[in-house]
Amino acid sequence: MSMNTQGRPTHTGTGADINATGAALLPNEPLLFEIGDTHHSGVDLPEVEISSSRLGGFERKSGLDLAGLTEPEAMRHYVRLSRLNHSIDSGFYPLGSCTMKHNPRLNEKMARLPGFADIHPLQPVSTVQGALELMNELSHWLMTLTNTAAVALTPKAGAHGELLGMMAIKAAQDAKGQGHRKVVLVPESAHGTNPATAAFLGYAVKAIPAREDGTVDVSAVKDALSPDVAAIMLTNPNTCGLFEPQVKEIAAAVHEAGAYFYCDGANFNAIMGVVRPGDLGIDAMHINLHKTFSTPHGGGGPGAGPVVLSEALAPFAPVPFVRKDDAGLELVEHTEGGALGRISAFHGQMGMYVRALTYMLSHGADGLAQAAKDAVLNANYIKARLKSAFSLPFPDYPTMHEVLFDDAFLSGTGVTTLDFAKALIDEGFHPMTMYFPLVVHGAMLIEPTESESKQTLDQFCDVMLDLAEDARAGNTARFTDAPLNAPRRRLDETRAARQPVLRWERKDPLPQAAE
Ligand SMILES: *Cc1c(COP(=O)(O)O)cnc(C)c1O
Repeated sequence: MSMNTQGRPTHTGTGADINATGAALLPNEPLLFEIGDTHHSGVDLPEVEISSSRLGGFERKSGLDLAGLTEPEAMRHYVRLSRLNHSIDSGFYPLGSCTMKHNPRLNEKMARLPGFADIHPLQPVSTVQGALELMNELSHWLMTLTNTAAVALTPKAGAHGELLGMMAIKAAQDAKGQGHRKVVLVPESAHGTNPATAAFLGYAVKAIPAREDGTVDVSAVKDALSPDVAAIMLTNPNTCGLFEPQVKEIAAAVHEAGAYFYCDGANFNAIMGVVRPGDLGIDAMHINLHKTFSTPHGGGGPGAGPVVLSEALAPFAPVPFVRKDDAGLELVEHTEGGALGRISAFHGQMGMYVRALTYMLSHGADGLAQAAKDAVLNANYIKARLKSAFSLPFPDYPTMHEVLFDDAFLSGTGVTTLDFAKALIDEGFHPMTMYFPLVVHGAMLIEPTESESKQTLDQFCDVMLDLAEDARAGNTARFTDAPLNAPRRRLDETRAARQPVLRWERKDPLPQAAE
């Protein structure tokens, strides 16, 4: 029996084999309430005698309905649950645009220092000078790497940063008496959050078509510019993994027309330390610390999406921010004039600031540039190894940190991009990003990041080439039945998202508590 990269059996054929092999390693984990019963407790507590309640008749009448488990039982449940999921710590995770890079353990060690981990946002600032110093240092790095005048640390995700950046642009347009500008230009290849942000703020979104080569044409931007346009939202490097060659001309044309340039900086990891977006003429850009600076994503998060601002937008930065002078560091909570107020309750995700600054300091300025170059090199290595068997929609440009294929190589095979992704699960890899960006058919967007070794990239490429060969040879069962070695087979993903089953109901009624 062959094993996949996660040490699980692969090519097991029918579902029946799985019960004897794969499923044994991937049990269907019951809920805590199904494992434990409510009559026992994991700890021995003395009986409590309550003679009279002080709750005025509001005390609960039934039992608490908590499962009684011992510590090892509870711990094993959560460890088993964690193994049902794919993670960057367990395997290669080439999810394009998401930048699933390794989270260095040094970051975690620093974030757990009591001076950072145990502080409270309402503590007097005199007691948190070290934390403010760290925020100030992080701000300095972000402004230096981007060559911008100000930074707002508080947004809690890339999308939240987009909202803040576009709010700053709106405030700046209003301040100039240009509040009638109601249109935002967004290229077709943009991440969905870009048009969503613009629409959320009441702007009409005007799409800019992509050129044949996957980049944005300055003349298409010029044609779309008018006295109604407030801003352009442009991703660079773009979501096709390409550096926009005309980005400076686009910035100049946008400014000439009285609009601002919002740059989606989610792909900053490809150019950090090499290109300063401020030099390209951007006015606002969010940076996903959880992508570029190796802080954990999602369930391991939370995220952080600081926004850097040009001199024109700096007066509209939100509060609070850190100010340093001879007297020490303070959190500025109120400002006069155009500032936007708060975008989040306190000062943002402290734990992520610590992790991101740790990544920056442990790499140094030269190391960050090297990491960006290595990420680009790794993506180009995958491109070079796969390009003979896969189809490249934009073959002419060198790719940046991610490589985009379309599904032309699968035509006539009966295998789709979705099938291909599912087959990768059986091989122990997280699939690449599928069907995004929308500008190519059946997109497969692969982002290896700088953290992967050549050995891992080769393992992945070997599997990808083997799958492509099988698809062309008509071995469709390997695709249409996949995934076989996963806790779940194919889900109705739309229904799972729209009608999630979030409530568990006990079948037997609980015994009434003694009055
Ligand atoms: C990830 C991403 C975003 C959104 O960032 P979140 O932190 O997930 O909100 C926006 N644009 C692009 C291009 C991205 O890759």
